[in-house]
Amino acid sequence: MGVTPRLLRAVILGAPGSGKGTVSSRITKNFELKHLSSGDLLRDNMLREIGVLAKTFIDQGKLIPDDVMTRLALHELKTLTQYSWLLDGFPRTLPQAEALDRAYRIDLVINLNVPFEVIKQRLTARWIHPASGRVYNIEFNPPKTMGRDDMTGEPLVQREDDRPETVIKRLKAYEDQTQPVLEYYQKKGVLETFSGTETNKIWPCVYAFLQTKVPQINQKASVTP
Ligand code: AMP
Repeated sequence: MGVTPRLLRAVILGAPGSGKGTVSSRITKNFELKHLSSGDLLRDNMLREIGVLAKTFIDQGKLIPDDVMTRLALHELKTLTQYSWLLDGFPRTLPQAEALDRAYRIDLVINLNVPFEVIKQRLTARWIHPASGRVYNIEFNPPKTMGRDDMTGEPLVQREDDRPETVIKRLKAYEDQTQPVLEYYQKKGVLETFSGTETNKIWPCVYAFLQTKVPQINQKASVTP
């Protein structure tokens, strides 16, 4: 008779632009964990009443009210009781973390800590030529002449979302909401922070940590996309 491995309940936290999406997808490629992203969950529910309600908040750049978000997330988690899971994007606020705690015991919380300046650089690197829709990235795909479209020489612009002022606001909002969540998990002794400026350097540390911390989870062959 085989021994059923204990299920792992994990959360990943990280600001927009911290590489959370990449790290999450590498975790789920390497470990047997179901990935539940609150953003995806909301998008998948857009046709249901709860999703329609959520959309009005998302479209205004606001957080979904805690009770709505918690109801949706806990409802989805009920379908995953026999699996280990990694939550991404939930909990985002202290009331959400407390509500999650009442339903499940969280084993570990991975926190990606990337300097503010690095994130700002990443998120503000995108420039667009409005007439053609051509997209440039100052770091990976820069235009031949700074600020000008390669084909027409016309000026490039930044989308509202990518402007430094907007990015700073988003990062600040993230910090304000998440700080109490970090402190909450720190006090519980489950917070593990990974600091760095490059996802490819942070990833091996996360990988090694998950291997030692949760040896009982069924590991697939190591994959680094
Ligand atoms: P994301 O894809 O994680 O950036 O989420 C997209 C949008 O969904 C956010 O801007 C929020 O409006 C909403 N959202 C996602 N997760 C949560 C959450 N845990 N609490 C409240 N709102 C959320």
